[in-house]
Amino acid sequence: MEPKTKLPVTITGSCLCEAIRYTITFPTDAEWPPKFNATCQCTKCRKFTGSLLPQGHVLPRPYITPAINNTTFATYTSFQSSEHCYRSFCSKCGSSLTFHDETKPDVIEIYLGTLDEDVLCKRDGGVLGEELCKSGVHIWVGNGVKGVSDGERLEGVRWKGDRGGEEMKRKA
Ligand SMILES: [Zn+2]
Ligand SMILES: [Zn+2]
Repeated sequence: MEPKTKLPVTITGSCLCEAIRYTITFPTDAEWPPKFNATCQCTKCRKFTGSLLPQGHVLPRPYITPAINNTTFATYTSFQSSEHCYRSFCSKCGSSLTFHDETKPDVIEIYLGTLDEDVLCKRDGGVLGEELCKSGVHIWVGNGVKGVSDGERLEGVRWKGDRGGEEMKRKA
C-alpha cells in the first residue's frame, strides 16, 4: 500500500523531563513507514514501561541523534533485563526510552510513546502519527489481558510469543 505521507526528514522525541531529547532523521532511501514496528506484551516490556501494550520501532542507530547513551546524557541509565539485552531510561523522570540487544549493535528499539505529541497527533492532521505507529505485528499476544489487550482488535500478524513462533488464530 502506498504511504499517505511523504518520508518526514526528522521526527523528535524525549523523556518526560526532557533531559534526554533526541531527533530521528530518516535518510531519503529509508524504509517508510518503518516496518520493524511491533507491539510487545511480554512481561518485561510491560513492567519496564508501565504500559499494557508497549510499542517500539527498531531503527538503525545512526538515524538517532545525539546517540542515546551515558556519554551524551547525564541522566541516561540502563538496566540489563536478560542475557544480552538492555533497557534504557531517564534517571530523573523515569521514562522508558530504548531496548537493545548487544548481539545486534547496529540497531536500537525506541518506544513510540516517547515521540513528541506534535509527531504522534498533529503533523499532517494526524496522518503522520497514524502511519508511523500503525503496527502490523504484535508479539506476545498470548500474554494479552483477556478482553483488553488479547488481540482480537489488533490488526495484522499476531504471534503468541516471539516473532516467528506460533501465530494466533482469530475467533471465527
Ligand atoms: Zn527525563
Ligand atoms: Zn517485550
